[in-house]
This record gives sequence, C-alpha cells and structure tokens, in this order.
Amino acid sequence: MSDALEVLNPATEELVAVVPAATRDDVDAAVVRATAAQRAWAAAAPADRARLLRRFAAVVDGHIEELALLEVREAGHTIGNARWEAGNVRDVLDFAAGGVERLSGRQIPVAGGIDVTFLEPLGVIGVIAPWNFPMPIAAWGLAPALAAGNAVILKPAETTPLTALRLAELALEAGLPEHLFQVLPGRGEVAGDALVEHPGVAKIVFTGSTRIGKRIMAKCADRVKRLTLELGGKNPNIVFADADLEAAAASAPMSFLDNTGQDCCARTRILVQRSAYDRFMELLAPAVEKVVVGDPYDENTQLGPLISRVQLDRVRSYVTDDLTVVRGTAPEGPGFWYPPTLVTGVDPTAAIATEEVFGPVAVVLPFEDEEDAVRLANATDYGLAGSLWTRDVGRALRVSRAVAAGNLSVNSHSSVRYWTPFGGYKQSGLGRELGPDSLTAFTETKNVFISTEA
Ligand code: NAD
Repeated sequence: MSDALEVLNPATEELVAVVPAATRDDVDAAVVRATAAQRAWAAAAPADRARLLRRFAAVVDGHIEELALLEVREAGHTIGNARWEAGNVRDVLDFAAGGVERLSGRQIPVAGGIDVTFLEPLGVIGVIAPWNFPMPIAAWGLAPALAAGNAVILKPAETTPLTALRLAELALEAGLPEHLFQVLPGRGEVAGDALVEHPGVAKIVFTGSTRIGKRIMAKCADRVKRLTLELGGKNPNIVFADADLEAAAASAPMSFLDNTGQDCCARTRILVQRSAYDRFMELLAPAVEKVVVGDPYDENTQLGPLISRVQLDRVRSYVTDDLTVVRGTAPEGPGFWYPPTLVTGVDPTAAIATEEVFGPVAVVLPFEDEEDAVRLANATDYGLAGSLWTRDVGRALRVSRAVAAGNLSVNSHSSVRYWTPFGGYKQSGLGRELGPDSLTAFTETKNVFISTEA
C-alpha cells in the first residue's frame, strides 16, 4: 500500500485528513512539469506576471477565513493568529508582485563599450517548509521565487499539508499557469530529500531544524546548489534596570508563548539585570499565570496546543522535576497541551537555557551589567532574533550592534515584517528572506560586456 500522511487536530487528536505522500518518482515528474512551466513564465511580459501574482493575492484575500480555519484544524493555532498568517500570505504575494517590474540589472561604466547586468531566474525552486507557520513560511519562499521568474515545488511538513494544498488550488483559480506552483506533501527523507538531490532543482529554501538544515547544506554542497536556510533560535529578551519594567513584564509572556512557543523567534531566554530582578519577577510571574490557554477557535484564547505528541514529549523532557518553575494552566484530556512555564535558577549553560525547546517554556537568568548582558546573549550557537528593554538610547544602539542576531527589537518584540529582511546569524541560518532584496535571492547575476570598437 502506498504511503500516506495522517493529519491530526492537535487540540482534539481527531483525524482531520489522510493525504498521499509523494514518492521520489512524483518529485521527478513534478520537476519535469515545473521546468516546462518555468520557461514559459520567464518569457512572459513582466506586467503579466505581476498581474497574475496580484490576482493570486486577491484570491487568497477572498479566502482568509477558510484558510485560517484550516490552519486551526491542522496546526492548532489560535484563530486570531491563523487569520494573521493567511493575511501574511496575501501581503507577501502583493509585495513580491510589486517587485516584478522593478527587478532590473545595472549599467556599469567601462571603456570601449557598455557593460550591463541581467538578473536571471534560477529555474525550479524547492521550498521545504516546517509545521510551525505552514502558510507564511511557504509564502516567503514561493512568492519572491515566482516573482523573479522561477517555478516552485513546495513540500510542506508531514503534519501540516492542508493549507499548502489549498494555496495551490487558489493559485490555479487566480490564473497562474499550471505546474508553475506545485505542492507535494510527503516525508522529509523521501520527497524533501529527492528535491534536495534533484539536478533539475536549482535552489532549496529550507526552514526547519538546524540538524536537518546542516544535512541539506552538505548535500547541496555536492552540486553547489543554491540554498537559503532559516533554522532555529534561542533568543534573548534583555531587560535592563533602567527599562519601563511594567511594559517589559507585560509583553514578555507572549514574546515566548505566542504560537505555543513553536516560533523560531520566541524570546525564550529572559535576561534581567540583577538590580531589577526581584521586581521584574513580581510582575512577570502573575502575567504568565493568567495567559489564557484553551480552545483555539475561541477569540479570547491566547495559546493553543502543541503540534503533536512528539513535540509534547520533547517539551516535557526539558522541564524536569528538579527545576524551579512558575506555571500557568492548560486543559486536561485529549490534545497536546502544555502550560505556560517559566524556569528560574538554572545554570546558563544548561540544556534548557541553550537548546531550542520549541514549546511554551522560557528561562529567566540574571546579569550584572551591559557587558555581561551581551556576553550572555551571545553565549549560544544561534543568532536569529532578540529584544532589549532600556530607556537609554545610547545603550539601545550599543547593545543592538553587539548582539549577533539577524532581527533585533528595542522596547518591543517585533521580528517579522514582509518588507524588512529576516534571517539568522551563526547557526540560525544562511541568507535572508522577505524585505527589499527578497526577489534577488532567486536570481543569478549575469554580466555582459558589449564592445563598441568592433
Ligand atoms: P524539521 O527540520 O524536522 O522539518 C522541516 C521540514 O524539513 C519538513 O518539511 C520535513 O519534512 C523536512 N525534512 C525533514 N528531513 C528532511 C531531509 N532529510 N531532507 C529534506 N527535507 C527534510 O523541522 P520541524 O520539526 O518541521 O520544525 C521545527 C524546527 O524548525 C525548529 O527547530 C524551528 O526553530 C525551526 N524553524 C525555523 C524557522 C526560521 O525561520 N528560522 C522558522 C520555523 C521553524
């Protein structure tokens, strides 16, 4: 019997769908179709490509509620988050569509002729997406790749293929050419690996764990295949004693709890200046305890379940009985529930303080001064995001420059805007997504010199 993926509702453990898993032969056939579709797409007028992508965005906009409800069912996201995620797909498509006619090369002064550059599409792009933000992360790859003249094959995560499949249907409804954007649900080690190894796939955009990212990078090296990696994070939230402590404590819970902590940007290392530590904890602990965990369809819910039993077991394995914890509440019964949890009194080098838990768990660590804060913030192999809270503008700038991470926010926790660049330092990734250069990441620069002497 052929392989199939079982999609469970993480809030109830009910079976939502069974989806056939793509084989290596399916990937081969998809690459053949995508290669033909890409040639025609690259040859089309930029205005026509832009118009079709805008139409795709408009069709997504007309299905926000449907897509959001599907995301709640397959991923357990809160309905508010899921609506934002579907809206983000629309926005990323719109933004990319605006770049099609602006994707121009340069004219560089030379003697004896003219020199021009062309930004040429790469061909077929393989996007391998994780389950934590199935829709936005798929869109961050597929929208700029299509806008730059490429075809896309998207392999969603095993647990969350449904919104990706629906997006492919909406693309056709919007009039995008057949086979230009294909979705192949399947297993990482089968369909994902086949995309990575396929000579007809010019670039891989991978978002997921650092462990798998490293493996993919090694395989891409064999062919010098282009690669963007968006990997994990263990992000600091640095609170200086001179900060607005009330505001910092009020915002800290959702900065690590949003999406039930299954967010590579989650601020899971809360670093607090020792002189303000006790006061900050007095404010933070009750704020964590009162976070509303429950039915994802309820508009008041702030936190849903974890994605799967595997993820629940993983989170449990980190929070051992010997740790000092502050806990919120979570529903009993079916579903993959875990309460909001703060851990104090741990060694900064402990696994829970350095590894990505990917659940609603943060550690709180004290620091002495600015130098100590920067040292602690950088004491990790990751470098994706971070926040710092201070009223001192000079300190805000000094610390922002000193922390080795791709996305920092001062007196806020924002990381992602579709028009600003996103990506990691160190082992959090390679390359950038979103922002003004997002289309260029899906092109090759060709330089042509034309002699005027002949
Ligand atoms: P994962 O690495 O297990 O899987 C991610 C994707 O890779 C899935 O589609 C999976 O099927 C596929 N895959 C697995 N093995 C593969 C292989 N050998 N070859 C090709 N593809 C393969 O990660 P996950 O469990 O889905 O996601 C959680 C992780 O992703 C966390 O560590 C998180 O930090 C990270 N993440 C990072 C970002 C970011 O932007 N930096 C965003 C979301 C998630």
